[in-house]
Amino acid sequence: MELLNLKRNGLEINQQVPLSKYTFTKTGGPAEYLAFPRNQSELEQLLQAAKLDELPVTVIGNASNLIIRDGGIDGLVLILTKMNQITISKQSVTAEAGGRIIDTAFAAANHGLSGLEFAAGIPGSVGGAVYMNAGAYGGETSQALLSAKVLTLTGEIKEYSNEEIHFTYRHSLMQTTGDVVIAATFKLHPGKKSAILAQMNYLNALRRYKQPLEYPSCGSVFKRPVGHFVGPMIIQAGLQGKQIGGAQVSQKHAGFIVNKGDATATDYLKLIKLIKKTIKQKFGIDLQTEVRVIGKPSN
Ligand code: FAD
Repeated sequence: MELLNLKRNGLEINQQVPLSKYTFTKTGGPAEYLAFPRNQSELEQLLQAAKLDELPVTVIGNASNLIIRDGGIDGLVLILTKMNQITISKQSVTAEAGGRIIDTAFAAANHGLSGLEFAAGIPGSVGGAVYMNAGAYGGETSQALLSAKVLTLTGEIKEYSNEEIHFTYRHSLMQTTGDVVIAATFKLHPGKKSAILAQMNYLNALRRYKQPLEYPSCGSVFKRPVGHFVGPMIIQAGLQGKQIGGAQVSQKHAGFIVNKGDATATDYLKLIKLIKKTIKQKFGIDLQTEVRVIGKPSN
């Protein structure tokens, strides 16, 4: 098998690894094969081997916006968190896809560069932030991104400009093409380090006040429908605190579903289904999940 032959080159590839170890919800079944590429060359080797072995490939960043079904993921799962170099230049910062967007934002702030303050508390990777067009408190990845380097499904390296990514709310071109983000460059502007850091700390204090950060979760489960707020609708529908198995609609922020200790992905998905059905019946609104649901159901 080409994939397992890569072990000879020093790549670590493990089999049947529970992904609940890595997801922010602490749920999810096993990866058939799991690897953590450390650089672009290893990523390319792994993708090439998977292609020769006809294995499907799933790329994951920090797993903070994922529900992986309890049956796990067939084929090769790549977690990019070891590709995490961050390079600062005069008015920009370039980060590898697996670096945390929080670390990127703080690295920029510490160099007196403003523009990523909104990301101070978003627990995803740079690649995940670009893929999801992550945003908070009036800021969005699309507003700061200059360009993104990707590896296409055909193995080509491309550099997309911001415009070419066609960002919209929680959406990017990569969600359509399946390109893997390898690195991103953010265009920033000079600011006063102390003011930038103060703003980031303020936003993080707001987050701690409003969000149930003491429990595992995947952040806001649903996208915000135009003209509505999800949390208040869930409260009005009487679902705040509703629990299925170990998954509970947060008592602190009804847009979050927290793992109270022993939740499974199936519990999460049952609760999501119930919320969608109730909101449709009560308000006539079709909620769309922001969280990405992948993998296969357990038998
Ligand atoms: P993952 O969860 O690993 O993956 C999400 C999707 O991105 C998957 O489909 C995956 O295949 C794809 N992906 C990941 N990396 C790559 C890559 N390199 N190339 C191609 N595809 C890739 N989100 C917000 O927008 N705003 C918030 O304020 C916010 N707050 C949160 C608070 C909490 C407590 C939590 C748990 C989550 C929050 N999130 C928020 C959600 C999440 O952090 C973001 O969506 C983040 O951008 C996801 O990045 P990730 O690396 O964790 O992606």
